[in-house]
Amino acid sequence: METMMIPDNDFLALTLKNPTALTPFEVAFSSGVGFIEETGILRLEPKQKSDINLVLSVGIHGNETGPIELVNQLVKAILEDRLVLNVRLLVIIGNPVSANIAERFCDVNLNRLFSGAWRNHEGIEVPRAQRLEQAVTSFFNESPKGSQRLHYDLHTAIRGSEYEKFVVYPFIGDAAYDKEQLAFLAASGIDAVLLSHQPTTTFSYYSSAVHGAHGFTVELGKVYPFGENDLSRFDSIKHTLTSLISDGFFQSDAVQLDNHPMKLFVVQDALLKDHEDYQLTISDDVKNFTEFEQGYELAHSSKSQYLVKATGDAIIFPNTNVPIGQRAGLVVRPITLNSLQLK
Ligand code: ZN
Repeated sequence: METMMIPDNDFLALTLKNPTALTPFEVAFSSGVGFIEETGILRLEPKQKSDINLVLSVGIHGNETGPIELVNQLVKAILEDRLVLNVRLLVIIGNPVSANIAERFCDVNLNRLFSGAWRNHEGIEVPRAQRLEQAVTSFFNESPKGSQRLHYDLHTAIRGSEYEKFVVYPFIGDAAYDKEQLAFLAASGIDAVLLSHQPTTTFSYYSSAVHGAHGFTVELGKVYPFGENDLSRFDSIKHTLTSLISDGFFQSDAVQLDNHPMKLFVVQDALLKDHEDYQLTISDDVKNFTEFEQGYELAHSSKSQYLVKATGDAIIFPNTNVPIGQRAGLVVRPITLNSLQLK
């Protein structure tokens, strides 16, 4: 493989200039070696042996530019020897074609295509999902035995949120939730954690379920176009990721989870669109985690009615613009840390 420079060490610019394909090449820097495996897929291997294998994916939705710029800064710092690489790192810019047209996706939502779900769809995202699965698979397959696997899939949202930064913790069945990861998320400025109730076809669930990684979908606030992001809003997670990358160290020791304000939620109900006339009774711009009183009629159709079961139950991801039979939102309920099984 040829060794070349990434022009200006700008992985993002290179990716956007070559949105559909890129011939693999090798990149040299002081603390390791990098491999452009395909457009938007950069694997960085440290000189020092490491027990941490970290996937950082951004731009799975093309218009979610803030995290893309954040991670591009980290890559640039590594390539320019301002940040020492001490973990195995796979950086993914998910959907450069849709990033170039400032759209969430082109043909189909890429974050619904993992764990083989791409087989049931058509469009430019389909081969991309397959390629990203391959990249993650070979990255984790090369991880040293007993080493730790991590995948943080970074997003921003169109909708506002009562908790600006929140993560979705994938469904883990009867397994225990990871204390160190929860503390790391708290140290990263995450305000709330939603514990998933079932398997799904997202990227982070794929890494969690198929590769045994600690994987999270991380929502970091609102969507802005390239160049208009106030990256200082990401200071906490930039700080924790920087020390993870350079020291292989989770900035979580300082966090007392027991009395930390980070909120935890479980899914209480999925709202199913059961008829063409299905409606939510809330305005289109209602924020994620908006709470309701017990008995409030949250949804109705000619076939059903949904009344809020307990005061404090909240809505997340409301969207009635889906086919009949699909999810129009989730009702979530706050829970306390000590009701969870932790390890
Ligand atoms: Zn997203």
